[in-house]
Amino acid sequence: MEMDSLRKLYVDELKDLYSAEKQILQALPKMAKKASDAQLKKAFETHLEETRGQVERLDRIFELLGKSSRGKKCKGMEGLLEEGKEMMQEDMEPEVMDAALISAAQRVEHYEIAGYGTVRTYAQLLGEDQHVKLLQQTLDEEGNTDKKLTQLASSINVEALVEA
Ligand code: FE
Ligand code: FE
Repeated sequence: MEMDSLRKLYVDELKDLYSAEKQILQALPKMAKKASDAQLKKAFETHLEETRGQVERLDRIFELLGKSSRGKKCKGMEGLLEEGKEMMQEDMEPEVMDAALISAAQRVEHYEIAGYGTVRTYAQLLGEDQHVKLLQQTLDEEGNTDKKLTQLASSINVEALVEA
């Protein structure tokens, strides 16, 4: 693909994030189902709802750009989710599985935070103020989810310490 301007790179990265979010929509219900801790389960369910809203924000941006959201597969997210899937198939005590789910979920959030931080900054440089607002909202949600997971890990990791 020809990538001769920041605007083209911007659209390309938005497509990548769109693909990432779509993949996350498939994975989160499985993670919620696998979680034993009630608060962790709830956190995944809440983030599933937020993720639906994040896809809608991207839809809005593509609408404003007059461009299609299709055409890219986020291989980075595919890899992260594949690792998560392999881990969920392991035989683990419930507390250890919860700790592992948090570990996988935080990798996903950090990947998204990097991606959204970048496109938010591109949108600022390109003068796309409406996009900036939408992307910042999503960036804030991803950041809050990451913090929430850290907070849950502080007790779940300790529970996982205890040998069965
Ligand atoms: Fe997201
Ligand atoms: Fe997220």
